[in-house]
Amino acid sequence: MQIPFDNSYARLPENFFKKVNPSAPPEPTLIRVNTELADIMGIDVDWLQSKEGLAMLSGQALPKGSDPIAMAYAGHQFGGWSPKLGDGRALLIGEVIGNDGIRRDIQLKGSGHTPFSRSGDGKSALGPVLREYIVSEAMAVLGVPTTRALAAVTTGENVVRNTLEPGGVFTRVAQSHVRIGTFQYFYARQDNGSLKILADYVIERHYPDALNAANPYAELLKLIAARQAELIAKWMSFGFIHGVMNTDNVQIAGETIDYGPCAFMDDFHPHKVFSSIDQYGRYAWGKQSEIGQWNLMRLADTLLPLIDDDLERAKIAAEDAIKHFNELFQISIFKKFSRKLGLLSDDENQNDLISLTFEVMTENEVDFTLFFRHLTKVYDGGETSPLCRLFKNPAACDDWLKKWREFITLDGGNEQDRLKTMQSYNPILIPRNHRIAEAIAAGEQGDFKVFNRLVDAYRNPYSEQPEYADLEQAPMATEIVNETFCGT
Ligand code: AMP
Ligand code: MG
Repeated sequence: MQIPFDNSYARLPENFFKKVNPSAPPEPTLIRVNTELADIMGIDVDWLQSKEGLAMLSGQALPKGSDPIAMAYAGHQFGGWSPKLGDGRALLIGEVIGNDGIRRDIQLKGSGHTPFSRSGDGKSALGPVLREYIVSEAMAVLGVPTTRALAAVTTGENVVRNTLEPGGVFTRVAQSHVRIGTFQYFYARQDNGSLKILADYVIERHYPDALNAANPYAELLKLIAARQAELIAKWMSFGFIHGVMNTDNVQIAGETIDYGPCAFMDDFHPHKVFSSIDQYGRYAWGKQSEIGQWNLMRLADTLLPLIDDDLERAKIAAEDAIKHFNELFQISIFKKFSRKLGLLSDDENQNDLISLTFEVMTENEVDFTLFFRHLTKVYDGGETSPLCRLFKNPAACDDWLKKWREFITLDGGNEQDRLKTMQSYNPILIPRNHRIAEAIAAGEQGDFKVFNRLVDAYRNPYSEQPEYADLEQAPMATEIVNETFCGT
């Protein structure tokens, strides 16, 4: 076998998925293969880049041992309930256990129609394929739990969107594709038997520690909540806005999934939204923990019958998990922003500096990533002018710096540690919207040099890389991309 498949999800009962083969695209070509990830997964890199590898990555012909399925799930989209969503343009082709012992799903995104496609074509345009590759790989090296990119290919056919666009297939790798929406699918059908099978599967695959608790299902909810708290705090600490935190886009293992209209903000504003369809700012940067909690409540609804026959007792356990989420999130976001500012002790008063920083950044339309990048340099003995040039009103910068220095003095600690901490919390490179847009525009013309350069650059986001200095810069007024679109 070219890939040592071991397909545990396909062994679950038939109502969990539909078996379906991918559609064969006319003329696929390889754009990029993630050889490092393939190695970890125990996949032969030469084979993956061969004709047979391309046949798999494009959905033309799957290798022995694969067992393609479209997973069933439901979900709340922008708060509205959809009892049946499912993989409409994606197929789980199988799972492999890597050299690191981790079981991972291999999924083709954009490989054609499935029973869940509804009115969609089951395909993907090239733009979202390139975007997901760039952003998910950048997130991984930034240290954010995420699904990964194994490969991107073109299909040789156009897909109909607003205009005709070249098509692509994205090969996504994830610890699994179980979502809150997967639980909701069975909950909506009042199918407690399937819910139990799903919960047991998730415990075995992702949360084996839950089995040590007096009530494994209550513990499962709590453990899922903990991973979501850390995940969302991480997103926010990098200025990342997921953009479409529907319950079907919340992965149970705690990885960022479904990069659609996501974006890293340039100028800081807590209400920042990029998604063209998020008219009311439901998924704005500063709303993400609140939405995370709402999503966990929807998961809790589905687990109540498993947690306890007595509904009141079950509800107490669910409330406990939600409280746990809020506490962990508060601690985590506080720590991350303290460290970004160079504060090593955890003194509650630092919240005043964090709030002031957000206020000043908002009023002065300060670039989020450059602010922390230049602040790190200031601490390292650099001039203050590159930092203060980011402010609309440079006097506000001087006032803020005075306050910041007071906190640093109070913080005590070792200078070397402080500098190292700031460097490790404040990346130099994040995938900026306008750069992604450039890579997509070139890719649509068949030129993948810009795309490849971005992927290469973002592999070392914390290092000084003079050859990529242009990628650090905020967009010029004419380059700003304020709106992003769902990856359909
Ligand atoms: P997403 O926006 O990726 O969260 O997708 C929401 C739902 O729409 C999922 O059930 C997808 O499978 C489905 N979907 C999105 N795009 C397409 C498409 N082009 N064809 C069929 N189904 C799609
Ligand atoms: Mg989705």
